[in-house]
Amino acid sequence: MKLLKIIKDFSYTHSENTAFISPEKEITYKQLWSESEKVASFLINEPLPNGSPVIVYGHMEPEMIISFLGSVKSGHPYIPIDTSIPIERIEKIIESSSSKLFINVSKQSFSLENSFVKIINFDEIVDNLSENTEVSTENWVKEDDNFYIIYTSGSTGNPKGVQISANNLQSFVDWMVKDFPINGNLQFLNQAPFSFDLSVMDLYPALASGGHIFAITKDMIAKPKYLFEAFKKSNIQIWTSTPSFVQMCLMDPSFTEELLPELTVFLFCGEILPVSISQQLLKRFPKAKVFNTYGPTEATVAVTYVEINTEVLQQYESLPVGKSKEDTRILLVDENWNEVSEGEKGEIIIVGPSVSKGYLGQKDLTDKAFTSFEGQMAYKTGDAGYKENDQLFYKGRMDFQIKLHGYRMELEEIEHHIAQSQYVKMAVVVPIYQNDKIEYLTAAIIPSEHVFEKEYQLTGAIKKELSEVLPAYMIPRKFSYYDDLPMTPNGKIDRKQIKEKVLV
Ligand code: AMP
Repeated sequence: MKLLKIIKDFSYTHSENTAFISPEKEITYKQLWSESEKVASFLINEPLPNGSPVIVYGHMEPEMIISFLGSVKSGHPYIPIDTSIPIERIEKIIESSSSKLFINVSKQSFSLENSFVKIINFDEIVDNLSENTEVSTENWVKEDDNFYIIYTSGSTGNPKGVQISANNLQSFVDWMVKDFPINGNLQFLNQAPFSFDLSVMDLYPALASGGHIFAITKDMIAKPKYLFEAFKKSNIQIWTSTPSFVQMCLMDPSFTEELLPELTVFLFCGEILPVSISQQLLKRFPKAKVFNTYGPTEATVAVTYVEINTEVLQQYESLPVGKSKEDTRILLVDENWNEVSEGEKGEIIIVGPSVSKGYLGQKDLTDKAFTSFEGQMAYKTGDAGYKENDQLFYKGRMDFQIKLHGYRMELEEIEHHIAQSQYVKMAVVVPIYQNDKIEYLTAAIIPSEHVFEKEYQLTGAIKKELSEVLPAYMIPRKFSYYDDLPMTPNGKIDRKQIKEKVLV
């Protein structure tokens, strides 16, 4: 596989270059390659069924990526599981994937009930093998073989394993390296845990271009003081995160070019990128380019992109997610799969070589979401969008469409307008149900600086502004105010927890 071959070449030509930095450890390309050869050799000698996935459990350690490469070099895809994932969910993943081997990279010792998986600590694997261990490239995963399987949440409450093949990943990495200014020995931030596919946006483009990955941990994110100290020493050049994560950083006035003088590229994916965040970034990092990208795990991280510069900011009230990568088509269709016309809203369908073959072992779910279109895999995203001037615009989840007292509306549209208020830094709108019916809407808000003494005065001022842009039935009945809003371990806004918060 091209990607593995490139990493192998770097391990010879740039053997002493850093590949990965975590708070506790740094490894070179040479170490990454030779240690992963040991893992591969160990796995080849294990009685594993052909192509059976290997679970890799840990949090941002270099041994995680050593194990990922070790797995794929032995012909087995890996399933990354972050330590923030609860044990019951891990058990469901093991059951659903029929994994037989679990590499524990974390120092945490634990046993899993009711499961036939063999747990082995990372150190036990590498300590027993010689430095010169090598496996044949014949063993590597290739073409349509799975490279990794990432579990995402399913609406039934059971996680779904998205299978990403070597070809899927290669198409993604080729695009990143070709169409973004990220090439050549650069320092990439890794914010997202490996169980979230946003991490793939920095991990493999970095390794495919001789770059180095600077990983931050959940402990650092929980203590902004340490996070900012780490940033200061980091030399980060390429930033990849969710918009929510950078928004959290922007709350600190020291998050500027002075803190990260080498930063030249911001890459965002996974959530709506608000205009206000882009404006602040361009102001605080005048040398940097900001890119919005869009895509689901099922189509390998991202499939569209656009640079958000001052021109784009002036032109649009809600930012576009851009145009598709060259090898991919985006269709916008109605319920009958007829393409809608320009400017009209439809479901976003992604067609191309980075679309997954489906969910591991879940044919029914696969058949519902995936299909073949003109000889290529197509994924029905469940996202709404429209096209204008050759740009794709994201218009929320089809299932975020709600009905309140008979009116159809989209929560994200309401959030967008509240966030435009001068009194608001961030807003999340939560529908409150009674007997399966939405009774009213509540807005959870992080306010900006304001002069009001009482919360009801602030609410009055925001509602007054909203009444100029939204019909009365779309203005939330209740407003609650917070210093911050909870995020999921992936760095996205945690709507479930916010709902619990507003109900207290
Ligand atoms: P995930 O598979 O966790 O990456 O989530 C994919 C979903 O995140 C997409 O289907 C969209 O609903 C949302 N998403 C991804 N990128 C963007 C973006 N740039 N703007 C708005 N929503 C996005």
